[in-house]
Amino acid sequence: MTTTELIFAGTDGGPVTRIADYEAEGGFGALARARAMTPDEVIDELNASNLRGRGGAFFPTGRKWSFVPKPEQIPKPHYLVINADESEPGTFKDREIMLRVPFRFLEGALIAAHAIESQHVFIYIRGEYEAEFEVLRDALEQMRAKSLLGDVTIVLHRGAGAYICGEETALLESLEGRRGQPRTKPPFPAIAGLYASPTAVNNVESITATTSILEIGGKAFASIGPESSTGTRVFSLSGNVVNGGNYELPHGYPLRDLINVEGGGIADGRELKAVIPGGSSTVILTADEANKVTLDFDSLVAAGTAIGSAAVIVIDDRCCMVQLGIRVSQFYQHESCGKCTPCRVGTKWLTEILQKIEDGRGAQSDMDLLVSVAERINGKCLCPLGDSDAIAVMSYFDKFRDEFQAHIDEGGCPFHGTSSLDDLLAPVAMHVHDIAAVHA
Ligand code: SF4
Repeated sequence: MTTTELIFAGTDGGPVTRIADYEAEGGFGALARARAMTPDEVIDELNASNLRGRGGAFFPTGRKWSFVPKPEQIPKPHYLVINADESEPGTFKDREIMLRVPFRFLEGALIAAHAIESQHVFIYIRGEYEAEFEVLRDALEQMRAKSLLGDVTIVLHRGAGAYICGEETALLESLEGRRGQPRTKPPFPAIAGLYASPTAVNNVESITATTSILEIGGKAFASIGPESSTGTRVFSLSGNVVNGGNYELPHGYPLRDLINVEGGGIADGRELKAVIPGGSSTVILTADEANKVTLDFDSLVAAGTAIGSAAVIVIDDRCCMVQLGIRVSQFYQHESCGKCTPCRVGTKWLTEILQKIEDGRGAQSDMDLLVSVAERINGKCLCPLGDSDAIAVMSYFDKFRDEFQAHIDEGGCPFHGTSSLDDLLAPVAMHVHDIAAVHA
């Protein structure tokens, strides 16, 4: 097991929620260093690190900040909005970051605010994350008591449980008090984001990594992992694996080692069947493919999938792929904001066709219909939600077509009620409150 830890460094597995403990380990040294630098120098440090966004899009963080105009160019308030609305099925890393290293996260928020010359920070936290909210509120009070915020205001804003509010423009709509639905772009948030003002939107892990970069330097950060995927990543491991949990590892780590070394192998002595490597919206990998890839951008793209939110869902040989498709499609159907027809109608249609096949009511023509509906969703939606459903379901269909065909041929599910889907998706379900995310 690797010991490279930046995000969780100094925690020894437990939380650091007392400011004195954090300061004793050098806490807020990175903030002092950043404040002694100009905003452009901080952005240069980020560019040197090649940190790429940890929310799923993997866009270079330093470049994103450099898109925010200077206050003299657009003389309006500048905003930093932190996306803590973690809801991608299988993903539970940000909650552990907020619980275990709240000060490192908040220190990163102040560094980022300095870089984009903002005095206004909003943390949009998922409504179900009650413990995380309390930990952050307490940490902020401790920081205020020590006057660490300077002229920056940090607001904790609780979401109401909509997955779509993890999409940055829907999040901004929600923050402004409107229904959380994506905006058309352009304009992009860097120019006209929150209250039509320059705004940077970053994920919790990206912001926390910023503290580490100012601690060790951009070049040192860039020396960890492959060139296109620098630094460490917190991987959320779940599904049919012995030791599910969050594991901070360098990018480029072999997926099979994450499962077999950190994860302790497949649960119940079963065989590996497939892996979803980056959250429910990413293309599934067969066992053969999973055993060859490393956990970084290039390797996963070469395998036809993506690193996404780094949520690795392990699937054993008992799992029915049609049932998996139903569960994932139900999620996207439920979470569709309804703004565009291909997503609103298509996700429902995909679910219904899959259910028909699972129930033994499917005809051969339903296989073609499934593909046709997916094609009418993919690439025709305003935001990635609809595409995610179509891409995920089509990957199950393409790689496990024989299993779909068996449902048609046998007039029902060949697993006859023995599928491991419920074990698998217990930690994946959207509204589960007791995810066993914090590993000892
Ligand atoms: Fe809303 Fe779905 Fe369209 Fe996204 S793709 S804007 S979630 S209807």
